[in-house]
Amino acid sequence: MNERIYFDSDALELTTSVLSCSAREDGRYQVVLAATLFHPQGGGQPSDSGTIDSVNMLQALQSDDGIIHITSGPLDLGTVTLKVDGAARELHARYHSAGHLIACAGEKYGWLGLKGNHRPGESRVVFDPTDHARPVTEEMLQADVAALVAQNLPRNVDVSQGRRVVTWGQLPPTACGGTHVRSTGEVGEIHIVRVKQKKGQLSVQYELDADEALEPAGLETC
Ligand SMILES: [Zn+2]
Repeated sequence: MNERIYFDSDALELTTSVLSCSAREDGRYQVVLAATLFHPQGGGQPSDSGTIDSVNMLQALQSDDGIIHITSGPLDLGTVTLKVDGAARELHARYHSAGHLIACAGEKYGWLGLKGNHRPGESRVVFDPTDHARPVTEEMLQADVAALVAQNLPRNVDVSQGRRVVTWGQLPPTACGGTHVRSTGEVGEIHIVRVKQKKGQLSVQYELDADEALEPAGLETC
């Protein structure tokens, strides 16, 4: 089982070692590292991407034995340097964190955030009703999430026994393995595109401010 450095670190660069590398049928390679900074795909958000030495790291996947890294080329066993694509990480963290804020806003009206898709262009949060659920509109959620962003609440992360619990300020904490902004202001403006009720569930579609999303974050170490 590789060490998940990303669990309590925002670092984008790390020196570690390759434990195994094998060819896949699709012409790519799969690599196991002693420690990793790459967030795997999951929790409704895409995988980190980046490089391992001069080889592209295309996708990180969670498996029963830890994180598998899909790469464009082979790597020798031994010491390597990981670099996470900072711009993609930041964009995914903003979309994923926006999903948390929308879930918090929905709870206020009696809706329980169940699952989310945090890919840009198809982002939404799906809620189940509690017994005190009441109707919500785009405008209501829009105002609530805008207030949470404006408060610029700091992130709190608690890692214990392999489990990570995340929140911002005094918002209800959630056990989550995704990527999260350091403070709610970093999410930027959240646009609630559509609120739809179907088969008892509430689906909230959202987008983020595109201009901010395109700002390059670079490959800097935090
Ligand atoms: Zn999360």
